[in-house]
Amino acid sequence: MGNLIKRLTEDRCPVCGKKLVISDEKWMKSMYVKSCPEGHIKKEVYPHLQTTIEYKKNSLGHR
Ligand SMILES: [Zn+2]
Repeated sequence: MGNLIKRLTEDRCPVCGKKLVISDEKWMKSMYVKSCPEGHIKKEVYPHLQTTIEYKKNSLGHR
């Protein structure tokens, strides 16, 4: 296999590789939520703080 390129602005699920989707329900001025369509991870993004908080589901790790 070739090289794996990790971008700084990672917006794909590390588990299944699917692109994260923005949750419209959580839209706020200063924060939005990106999550895996399969429910593996969730990211809370605070653009003005340049901060991303990532949540992972422990039960869905590597097997
Ligand atoms: Zn996933």
